[in-house]
Amino acid sequence: MLSNNVKEQDLNPWPGLTLACVRILHLYTKVFGQDLQQIARKNCNKCKCVREGHEVVVEHGARSRLGLANNHDGLDARSLGYAFVPAGLTSARQVDQYYSTLPTHEVPKLGSKGEIARLQRIAKQLPKQDLALSACKFIEESVKSSFQDFISARNEIALDIGIAKPAPPNSVCDGCNRSIITQQVSVVAPRMGKLIWHPACFRCTTCDDLLVDLAYCVYEDKIYCERHYAELLKPRCEGCDEVS
Ligand SMILES: [Zn+2]
Ligand SMILES: [Zn+2]
Ligand SMILES: [Zn+2]
Ligand SMILES: [Zn+2]
Repeated sequence: MLSNNVKEQDLNPWPGLTLACVRILHLYTKVFGQDLQQIARKNCNKCKCVREGHEVVVEHGARSRLGLANNHDGLDARSLGYAFVPAGLTSARQVDQYYSTLPTHEVPKLGSKGEIARLQRIAKQLPKQDLALSACKFIEESVKSSFQDFISARNEIALDIGIAKPAPPNSVCDGCNRSIITQQVSVVAPRMGKLIWHPACFRCTTCDDLLVDLAYCVYEDKIYCERHYAELLKPRCEGCDEVS
């Protein structure tokens, strides 16, 4: 719950910010304090506007952000104490094994810094304005249809979510090229065929960040976060953070 010294206006520094998840917002405020305003404001190079609504609330993870149906076959992450568990795992033991291979501060345990790091990654790796034309505020009329084509093509051929599974015998990680212990929980990416990764090696080729919620895009047989996939194909404005 909110403590008494946090006023609601402190929690709502940007127009358009909904208080959909006060708990998450509260965690942000605790971690960033007064710096929230400063990290959010940046003027747009192209149109000189001030970026508004740098989003804090990142909904319920990569799947829903990408408009994919919820995976009801999966384990219930929250009941296991995590904000997210990958699809493909079938027991608490596998989940613990999966997370035991990541640095502690990267593990999205409920109420931990790792949970906040995950939310930051969602906002950074999966920019809302990359995902739907309706989320773009500054795009010019003349490039709207090519942007829509980019979205459709990306969703059709590049974007997907990885799955965790025990490694078959003689597996070699595509990230670090070391072998993976047989039956060790690992990551596979359906758009990358038989390739397999250590959970800690499933990273964007450009920024080397862990791919949040295992969301990845493929470009020329390499994996990227959506942000950096988009930037391989389109320039991004440093101010409003939109590609066009
Ligand atoms: Zn602008
Ligand atoms: Zn590896
Ligand atoms: Zn990246
Ligand atoms: Zn701009």
